[in-house]
Amino acid sequence: MRDTERLEAAIEERKDSIQTKGKQKQQLKCDTNSVAGCVSQRACVYCGARVVLNPVTDAIHLVHGPIGCASYTWDIRGSLTSGSDLYRFSFSTDLQEMDVIFGGEKKLARAIDGLVEKYQPKLIFVYSTCIVGVIGDDLEAVCKAAARRHGIEVIPVQSSGFIGNKSAGYRAACDALLKLIKPAENEQISKNNTINYLGDFNLAGEVWIIKDYLQRMGLALNVAFTGDSNYETLKTATKASLNIVQCAGSMIYLANQMKEIYDIPYHNVSFLGLEDTSDSLRRIARTYNDLEIMRRTEELIKAETAAVAPLLARYREKLRGKKAAIYVGGGFKAISLIKQFREIGIDVVMIGTQTGRQEEYDTINDLVDDGTVILDDANPSELERFMVEKGAHLLVGGVKERPLAYKLGIAFIDHNHDRKHPLSGYVGAVNFAQEVYSTVCSPVWKYTGEGGGLDEQRKCCLS
Ligand code: SF4
Repeated sequence: MRDTERLEAAIEERKDSIQTKGKQKQQLKCDTNSVAGCVSQRACVYCGARVVLNPVTDAIHLVHGPIGCASYTWDIRGSLTSGSDLYRFSFSTDLQEMDVIFGGEKKLARAIDGLVEKYQPKLIFVYSTCIVGVIGDDLEAVCKAAARRHGIEVIPVQSSGFIGNKSAGYRAACDALLKLIKPAENEQISKNNTINYLGDFNLAGEVWIIKDYLQRMGLALNVAFTGDSNYETLKTATKASLNIVQCAGSMIYLANQMKEIYDIPYHNVSFLGLEDTSDSLRRIARTYNDLEIMRRTEELIKAETAAVAPLLARYREKLRGKKAAIYVGGGFKAISLIKQFREIGIDVVMIGTQTGRQEEYDTINDLVDDGTVILDDANPSELERFMVEKGAHLLVGGVKERPLAYKLGIAFIDHNHDRKHPLSGYVGAVNFAQEVYSTVCSPVWKYTGEGGGLDEQRKCCLS
């Protein structure tokens, strides 16, 4: 079978997870396991759990598995800290062949003992990986015994590869957090007027931007899950009176659990782009039904919008008519990106996510123009085919999508974990536009030759 035939066959098998707006009427198939044999762009269960928990700054993150799994470190994720930087290490039990045959529990217990002696942490997360699921080490028992031995919290994260996809990893991380925030027996929870911010990982300091907005509105951030959080702050989580959820894909489960168990209501929010940032701030303010908070919120929105509007107008002038392809982790981010691209004059021609949910795809479908390709859990072949077919000038994605864009001679913007510039709030909207402009209109495209996408549109932005 030739490459093109193979691609067509794979796409046929995935046809229910790919649709073109205006052509198909049925709902997109999503939230399922990947098609066997397709090299999905989706990350594994362990990775899903690790991205959520890694920003807990004073925790030991111990990976029970082969050394390769531990290559996921702070270095590929730009979560910042205002305190401890223990989270920047990645520890591993480095399971070898003999451990796989005879079991790795003793090695894990020894690793925990060694880490406690060296770092005296209050909290250790122990992640299970694919091989641990196969050999059946009892993580729960080893962690429980270690916690008793050392008088600290040692929390198992049940993220072995075969329990599902990246979403199962999110859930495993949320379960670990629920264990951590559970108040001690007989402890009285007295609520205060603060807010927990769920689903922000303080990439390039984004939590601090939102914290500042809340303060200017007359509100206070209690703890962020999990950007710039630590053992002590997470322990106060049940005292907050409201949860706001940025990355719904990873944290909606935690928000629902906290609502049910601790009676903390939540709102979905998005601080990507002007429209969603302003809407979200207003929604938070309305919750308090306090005229002063509402006045301060409107004042903030007015001042911040006025400060960035002229800059965005300039970028819009340069970028008008360009076409973007989006492939990101969650549906909520994808929805915000459609609106954010509109703010700078760009049309979205292809959009997909790794873990989007049905209701999010319905919203995406409502927002995009006819002819836009929408796809769930894509593989590189599909992304390539539709980006070329739709004439995209730019791909927004994460670390795995970057080489694909560059090989096709398409501009790329990182909207994932390893970036060093904040994309949240009003300042983030300007950073985003600036980033899009500098990559789409980079002089490098003059040298990419035929097929490199140097069409009339791009020539015009280079002039
Ligand atoms: S847990 Fe499994 S899929 Fe994930 S990095 Fe380790 S070996 Fe690879």
